[in-house]
Amino acid sequence: MEQIFFQHPRDQIVEIMRRIYGHGMTTTSGGNLSVLDSDGDMWISPGSIDKGTLQRNDIICVKNDGSILGPHKPSSEFPFHKAIYKLRPDVRAILHAHPPMLVSFSVAGQIPNTLVHPTAKAVCGTVGYAPYEVPGSEALGKNVSETFAQGHSTILLENHGACCAGRTLLNAFQKFETLDFCARIINNALKLGTPHYLRDVDIEFHNQDRNGEFMPVMPDTRTSQEMEMRYQMTLLIRRAYSQQLFTSTEGTFAVRLDKDSFLITPSNIDRGTIDPEDIVLVKGHQYESNKNLSRATWFFKAIFDAQPEINSLIISNPPNIMGYAVSHEKFDPRVIPESYILLREMPTFPYGSHFRDTSEITSTLSPRYPVIIIENDCLVTSGNSLLQAFDRMEVAEYSAKATISAKNLGGMKPITDAQIADLVKAFNLIG
Ligand SMILES: [Zn+2]
Repeated sequence: MEQIFFQHPRDQIVEIMRRIYGHGMTTTSGGNLSVLDSDGDMWISPGSIDKGTLQRNDIICVKNDGSILGPHKPSSEFPFHKAIYKLRPDVRAILHAHPPMLVSFSVAGQIPNTLVHPTAKAVCGTVGYAPYEVPGSEALGKNVSETFAQGHSTILLENHGACCAGRTLLNAFQKFETLDFCARIINNALKLGTPHYLRDVDIEFHNQDRNGEFMPVMPDTRTSQEMEMRYQMTLLIRRAYSQQLFTSTEGTFAVRLDKDSFLITPSNIDRGTIDPEDIVLVKGHQYESNKNLSRATWFFKAIFDAQPEINSLIISNPPNIMGYAVSHEKFDPRVIPESYILLREMPTFPYGSHFRDTSEITSTLSPRYPVIIIENDCLVTSGNSLLQAFDRMEVAEYSAKATISAKNLGGMKPITDAQIADLVKAFNLIG
């Protein structure tokens, strides 16, 4: 997170626009970003410039006195950026774009419910809805800024798109991508059945601190195996992010180093720019001081302790698998041979199972049942290696995507029991 916070506004805008465009969340012409600096100057993306090739020198500075520096015109939505900064002095960065799934909600006149899983609401806050007005007009500026003035930092614009505000551009972007993930999860859940939403009390239950036994300690030696694993984890976490299996705030990897120690993704670190030194070493009930211990560390430790053959674990909430987890429809992994070979039966557990009785999950998740779903929470994939757990996460999400589409085509015809028996034999799967 700090990496972007310390970047010049020009570079923040270029980096976040690269992510938005790369994730298919804006077109060449749509979308605008701004950062207000400590002198009161606004740095803003230019209008009528290809968003796919934006460079730092394309970014425009609108000075406090109204003068404009830069080679292009500022974005045509400059009026609403200016109006938001005026009404919300806590806001230092604004993001606006037209990502297809949030546009679907905006044209349907609906706000995505962020209570699909336990962390989205804390990222997005409450979500507002601003009435339609002509793009670029002072009237749109009034509608949008007044909606922000109600206290929301994430809003939908009627028949238009989404707008998010934050202390930094990364912070605004995290609201934007999390809301988009929620929208995609809800859309998938609706294709499968009826979405189920959490209550605030369920989120409080999730947020209880269960890491009380872990004490911060600075390790005095580092093995080369640890350094190698930090490097490998970083590559795969960044890949999970670029494949949209993780968001910049959600998705946790852990890798066992030996019987007693493992490495784990920290909380509050941008998954898109994570570095090897950000990863947290956990040994017994000690963890590296000065790092943000993942909230789920106790759960990872419980699984590693119970299952000595598991060396790698990933918790994620990708939008197609989460469609199943939120609709409470059973995902059938007998899709293609690869799905069953890697995923097996994929048992599903009700929300909060691991908080009530951790042994239910730690005695199931194993080389025989390497992947599970926890309803309204997450996908847990395991493996004997980092790449195997990663592959299982990808296969689960892609298979879920395929089955949701197959539903539109008349429904999936699963691989038969006899064909499964042949796969178990041919691939020497654990019976
Ligand atoms: Zn727009």
